[in-house]
Amino acid sequence: MSQVPSITLNNGLEMPQLGFGVWQVPDDEATTAVATAIESGYRSIDTAAIYGNEVGTGKGVAASGVPREELFITTKLWNADQGFDSTLRAFDASLDKLGLEYVDLYLIHWPLPVKDAYVDTYKALEKIHADGRAKSIGVSNFLPSHLERLMGETSVVPAVNQIELHPQFQQAELRAFHARHGIVTEAWSPLGQGKGLGVPTVAAIAHKHGRTPAQVVLRWHLQTGHVAIPKSVTPSRIVENLDVFGFELDADDLAAFAALDDNLRIGADPAVFDAGA
Ligand code: NAD
Repeated sequence: MSQVPSITLNNGLEMPQLGFGVWQVPDDEATTAVATAIESGYRSIDTAAIYGNEVGTGKGVAASGVPREELFITTKLWNADQGFDSTLRAFDASLDKLGLEYVDLYLIHWPLPVKDAYVDTYKALEKIHADGRAKSIGVSNFLPSHLERLMGETSVVPAVNQIELHPQFQQAELRAFHARHGIVTEAWSPLGQGKGLGVPTVAAIAHKHGRTPAQVVLRWHLQTGHVAIPKSVTPSRIVENLDVFGFELDADDLAAFAALDDNLRIGADPAVFDAGA
C-alpha cells in the first residue's frame, strides 16, 4: 500500500526513501505517533536508544498490525555504550525494548572521536549483522576522516551515514564522499527542525506547486537522492509530510534550493561532540 520509493543499499537491501523520526517524542506518545505514521503509509521508523522511546516505538509497530517484514526499523547505539562488549549488550537491550527479533538498520549514533572507540564498536555491529540481528549496519554523524578510518580497519562498508542535512546545510562534500563509496546519505532534521520553512524562496516554490513549505523541502530531499526522516506528532503533518509524490520540482526550483545553502548547522558538530563519553 505504501507509495514511498525505496533506495537500494550497498548490500542489495531496500530502504524506504522517506521515514518517520521520533526524536523528542516521549515514550508514552511514541506508540500513537508511530502507529499513526504506519497507518498513514510510512514504512520506515527512526529511533535511538538515547531517545528513550524504543518501548513506545515497538508498541506502535505492534499496534499498527502491519507485518514486520514490510517495515524498516532503525535504532542507534548511544555514545556511552561504545566499545565491543558494551555495544553487544546495548544492542540486546534495544531489541528487547523494541520487542523485535531484528532491526533493519543499526547505526553508531556519533563518532565520538574523543573516546576513540568507534572502530571496535563497529566490529560489534559487524558481528550483530553477521548474526542476522541487524539486516544492515551503518553510522551517523561520521565525517570523511572517520569513514576513511572505519573502512580501512573493518570489512562491511557502512550502508548509511545519517547526517544533519537540510536546505540551509547541504553538506555537498560529505555527500560526494558517500556517493564515491556507495554509502546512502540519510538526512536528519530534514526540515531544519521547522526553522527554514519560512524562507521566502521555499514559500515561493511551495506556492508555485500548490504545496506546503515542508512538502517542497521533502521533495528536494527525494529528488536529490537522500533518505529523509521528518518528525511530527501532529497527525495532519504526519500525513502532509508523506504526501510528496504527486508533483515534481523542476530545474529552476532545484537551482533555487541549491542557492539556499549557507552552512547553517543547527545540531552538534561531530568533530567535537562528546556527550556520554
Ligand atoms: P525535522 O527537521 O524533522 O523537524 C521536525 C519539526 O519540524 C517538528 O517538530 C515540527 O516543529 C516541524 N514540522 C514537522 N512537520 C511540519 C510540517 N508539515 N509543517 C510545518 N512544520 C513541521 O527535525 P528533527 O526531529 O530534528 O529530525 C527528524 C528526525 O531525524 C528525528 O526525529 C530523529 O529520528 C532524526 N535525528 C537524528 C539525529 C542524529 O544525530 N542521528 C539528530 C537529530 C534528529
